[in-house]
Amino acid sequence: MPRYEYRCRPCGETFEVSRPMAESSAPAACPAGHEDTVKLLSTVAVGGSSAPSASSASAAPAGGGGGCCGGGCCG
Ligand SMILES: [Zn+2]
Repeated sequence: MPRYEYRCRPCGETFEVSRPMAESSAPAACPAGHEDTVKLLSTVAVGGSSAPSASSASAAPAGGGGGCCGGGCCG
């Protein structure tokens, strides 16, 4: 059974779900129960070259994510 990677918007966490291909496009709730998730391409690395350290969900973002180039206005 293929595995699909999803990202939870409320959590900002990514998680994997094993499900049949027929259900690959079905919504997947995150382990915390949030349903606002997006499906990721498992073969594509998401994020920049400097990924933030994991397990720091309570830490405020020190930079990035709100810049101009993050919103697609830089081309
Ligand atoms: Zn979540």
